[in-house]
Amino acid sequence: MAKRINVVCSGLNDVGSGLFRVGKKVYSAPNLLPGEEAIVEVEFEKKFNNARVVKILKPSKNRIQPKCDIFEKCGGCQLLHMNNNAQKDFKINSVKDAFKEYNLKKDIDEYISASKIYQYRNKMQVAYRYINNKLVYGFYEEGSHRIIPLNKCIVQSEIQNKIARFILELMIKMKITAYNEDKRTGLLRFVLIKESFKTKEILVVLVTSSNVFGGRNEFVREIRNKFPEVTSIVQNINTRKTSIILGDEERVLYGKGYIEDTILDLKFKISSKTFYQINPEQTIKLYSKAIEYANFKDTDKVIDAYCGVGTIGMMLSKHVREIIGVESNKQSVNNAIINAKENNINNIKFVCDDATNYIFSLAKEQVKIDGLIMDPPRSGSTEVFLESVLKLKPKKIVYVSCNPTTLARDLKVLVKDYEIKKLALVDMFVNTFHIESVVLLEQR
Ligand code: SAH
Repeated sequence: MAKRINVVCSGLNDVGSGLFRVGKKVYSAPNLLPGEEAIVEVEFEKKFNNARVVKILKPSKNRIQPKCDIFEKCGGCQLLHMNNNAQKDFKINSVKDAFKEYNLKKDIDEYISASKIYQYRNKMQVAYRYINNKLVYGFYEEGSHRIIPLNKCIVQSEIQNKIARFILELMIKMKITAYNEDKRTGLLRFVLIKESFKTKEILVVLVTSSNVFGGRNEFVREIRNKFPEVTSIVQNINTRKTSIILGDEERVLYGKGYIEDTILDLKFKISSKTFYQINPEQTIKLYSKAIEYANFKDTDKVIDAYCGVGTIGMMLSKHVREIIGVESNKQSVNNAIINAKENNINNIKFVCDDATNYIFSLAKEQVKIDGLIMDPPRSGSTEVFLESVLKLKPKKIVYVSCNPTTLARDLKVLVKDYEIKKLALVDMFVNTFHIESVVLLEQR
């Protein structure tokens, strides 16, 4: 049974929800700021997602009106109710807390804000489902299998929103069914949209539960007619019972099967499965900061670990003698090899391998490395990777991280032999609790 009570918010948790105390227990609700008095509804018997704000009685001076009416339910952007300064303070504190937890001493040297705070994402991923027999599309509710129906997402671009909506209308018109997770019936599971803000090219990936797609040609034709910006359409077939979006099998329905984007003077190919930074404005600042911090010499041999489609390594290529990018995703490595060729970069090569395996074998063979750039996924790197780096002894390491907790955990291993010289934060994911860090480490 939900109960309404008056509370005062005492602080924020790690995902930006407001904390309050009832008796000895601490609860949290989204859309609640420190110092605020509010009426909240609490479901005491529920373990998670158990509180929500009914009414703010005394608003914080840091509160702004969220520009999205489903933000509390959706959970994709957790900080839409905070002004820029409050978001910045929250993100700085989350990094400080992570460093404190691992007893790491380093001040933050700079915080790099974004000028574009809405419509900044170049990638959109939505599910198509039925709710009470009505076709809807939307994002997964945080930590659940429920879809929150969407009309428009303010961090996605105008055209991405329009394509997502048009596909829903097209499905109704053409009687194309949406997937049902429980019954495992229906065709369309997800749509993935990747857009280059620079070249204006758009890739649309239709994720289907079967390779049989009646009306496929007409579906593709309708999308192309409506949106000339869509330069490629791919069908991805995912027959498995899984929450992973993309399946293994793919078929190009229109165009090249990928789009091209540019970062400064370099071109990159982006396919359905290749990792690519989602905020182009901030990506340039992030990479430039990493390269500035590294300050490598033109005689240096450098490893770009977890390299994706080779972006950082290629930007670095004119400053160093030789680069080796290592990446486990095959599609990314294939694109990286083509990218290097098309950008006329001859001093870079790519290895498709698990980064830990690769670094471990380099350490075993005592290969001489001058520098290391590493940019692992949210789970961070591994103990074996880090211990191998300590054996390889590069003079400098630049660690790029999208998760302060795993960053701090990994730095704790490296600080045995390295000193943390610089730390910059880049706000890549505005309005969310996420923050990107760039760290320079130098051998002691
Ligand atoms: N530096 C790139 C990619 C960073 S994202 C960029 O800025 O675009 C992290 C990358 O690590 C992804 O491309 C992912 O496919 C890759 N990855 C994840 N686990 C890995 C592993 N064990 N070994 C190598 N690469 C891995």
